[in-house]
Amino acid sequence: MSDLLTLDVLAFAPHPDDAELLCGGTLARLAREGRRTGIVDLTRGEMGTRGSVEIRAAEAARAGQVLGLAVRENLGLPDSQLENDVATRLQLVAVIRRLRPQVVIAPAPKGRHPDHRVAAQLVRDACFLAGVRKVDRASEPHRPRKLLHAITYREDHVKPTFVVDISDDIKIKLAAVACYVSQFEGVIQAGEVYPTGAPLAEVIRHQSAHYGSLIRCAYGEPFWTHETMRVDDVMALQVETF
Ligand SMILES: [Zn+2]
Repeated sequence: MSDLLTLDVLAFAPHPDDAELLCGGTLARLAREGRRTGIVDLTRGEMGTRGSVEIRAAEAARAGQVLGLAVRENLGLPDSQLENDVATRLQLVAVIRRLRPQVVIAPAPKGRHPDHRVAAQLVRDACFLAGVRKVDRASEPHRPRKLLHAITYREDHVKPTFVVDISDDIKIKLAAVACYVSQFEGVIQAGEVYPTGAPLAEVIRHQSAHYGSLIRCAYGEPFWTHETMRVDDVMALQVETF
């Protein structure tokens, strides 16, 4: 397969709009820096109260353009009934082997919506299995090098393993979220975002500013990994203690 068709970073999202809310700034920054990024939405969000599958698909496509994605696809799995079973894992394995991302982003292991919790483990399992040749002999094995869990908005989570500075990309993130007119216009709550009474865009901005403050910048997005981060030069460590 040509490298031109493969991705550097791929985010799996349970529903269209989740990736924008959780890691849209990071994806925008990666694209701005010349990386090839993609989002694969697992479901079409057909259980949502607002909008329709068709409208959400059009909104997702527009948001993908705003983020500068190279790829945006939808697996059409059942909304609110997402399962980490053999058949579903194989669908994700096929996507991972075709797009061959080096880094994969999944939702936080904890979450309000059952689909988000299932997706976190489903994506993790699929990333591992994609590297097992005999899982499907028809395609070349590929195991992503790194799996990140996007823990934005999760107040029940441990400290982030790291925060990505999205100060230069917050406008793009908010513009991508704003593409989902059917979902977010006039609303104060969405996905993992707990309502405060302020308009959704303001809550996202406040939350992003909080994560940014953890690394002393204007806006940030938090991630968590099972693995520990390596440091070679303690003198180069950023984020001063005092
Ligand atoms: Zn969702």
